[in-house]
Amino acid sequence: MNYKDKFVLIIILVLALPLAGCSKTENSSVDNDVVEILEEELFVIEKETPEDKTIVTETEETEPIDDLVEENSVTVEEIEGLELNEENIFWLQESLKIAGYTIAVDGNLGPNTKKAFKSFKEKEGFLSDSVYTAEVKKRLESIRKNNNEVEIEIEVVESEDDSTEKDEKSFQSAKVLELNYKNVYWLQESLKMAGHYTPLDGRWGSNTEKVLEDFKKEKGLSEIEIYDEETKIILEGIREKNMINDPTSDLILLNKSNFLSSTYVPKNLVEADLPKSKYMALPEHVALKAKEMFLKASEDGHGLYFASGYRSFEYQETLFSRRVAKHGFDAAEKVVAIPGQSEHQTGLAIDITTEEMGYGLSQSFDQTEAFDWLINNCYKYGFILRYRKGKEDLTGYIYEPWHYRYIGDVEIAEKIMAEALVLEEYLKE
Ligand SMILES: [Zn+2]
Repeated sequence: MNYKDKFVLIIILVLALPLAGCSKTENSSVDNDVVEILEEELFVIEKETPEDKTIVTETEETEPIDDLVEENSVTVEEIEGLELNEENIFWLQESLKIAGYTIAVDGNLGPNTKKAFKSFKEKEGFLSDSVYTAEVKKRLESIRKNNNEVEIEIEVVESEDDSTEKDEKSFQSAKVLELNYKNVYWLQESLKMAGHYTPLDGRWGSNTEKVLEDFKKEKGLSEIEIYDEETKIILEGIREKNMINDPTSDLILLNKSNFLSSTYVPKNLVEADLPKSKYMALPEHVALKAKEMFLKASEDGHGLYFASGYRSFEYQETLFSRRVAKHGFDAAEKVVAIPGQSEHQTGLAIDITTEEMGYGLSQSFDQTEAFDWLINNCYKYGFILRYRKGKEDLTGYIYEPWHYRYIGDVEIAEKIMAEALVLEEYLKE
């Protein structure tokens, strides 16, 4: 499926989703968060077009709706040769800005960026199109070099006592780290885990500088807001402490204070044999239990659809940074899990929807018979409802009637469902 087809499909869905939601939401107000989720975790129905029968896989995620609406005359594919991830678009925008173009550096490939890019090519004597070639990149690199980009100023601190020499020595020996998108993102994420809030946008700005300074002060490091090897090692230690590196049990607790390492991938991932729209994977034992549950539900007259299963760290990062670029960190964090904090990375979580819900994920799902069936039967297959209403402070997530978590043990699952507990409560007992 190419982008144009996706665009058409998404527009159809965007128009259809609110309608689908309405049938069940008359007596429950539509929550902003839910609308955001619908947009983010949009369940795209695969439709084959005669000229293109490619199966859409997890990595070929649909483009953000806003972008497609803005850019319906120019497809994203026109700029090629470089992966259009957040990081590369940031770099491109930053470079164009250094080259004198007034554009936002937000990681989104919008019409302004494209216009600036085209005009840059024209001015530099390249073909006047929007194809991103290695040559163009080279030219931008040399412009950046000439403008001394990302130069870290090392302040010389005048000290009044004898420790001057020692301080300078240890300061010089600490390796200063490059402030590229990846490093800054990691730094911001780690600072946040260490209790020092900063927006997660991968950009080095005064806010991040200030937070880094506070952190270094707290840890008794040199108070200069420079990101060096020494700081990184301390942050790594903090991450390690909170990170689940090898979750061997199905009963693992994953939330905003216990999270997975970026490299964790569940073992035995298989394509789930469930009604779904595209390739989606689950660990084999979870896939089998989910299949049993879906079959029984179907026998009882409830056609369930599998909306989301295993999601990689990278995929979650894409979802998250896209959301941050558009709505800022605070709004993003409420609806999209920070990479490493999504249960979907464990492979133990499944999102379920129905035709009645227009294949969308919405809180009004809890007014359907399919939902009643699920909460009365899911435990028999080792699943629990993970994010309950009224327990948002404990789970850190909004109420998600569509999100079921496999914990394996049927007796524990039964207890959790019967007593309407969340995993945080059960594991504390
Ligand atoms: Zn989910």
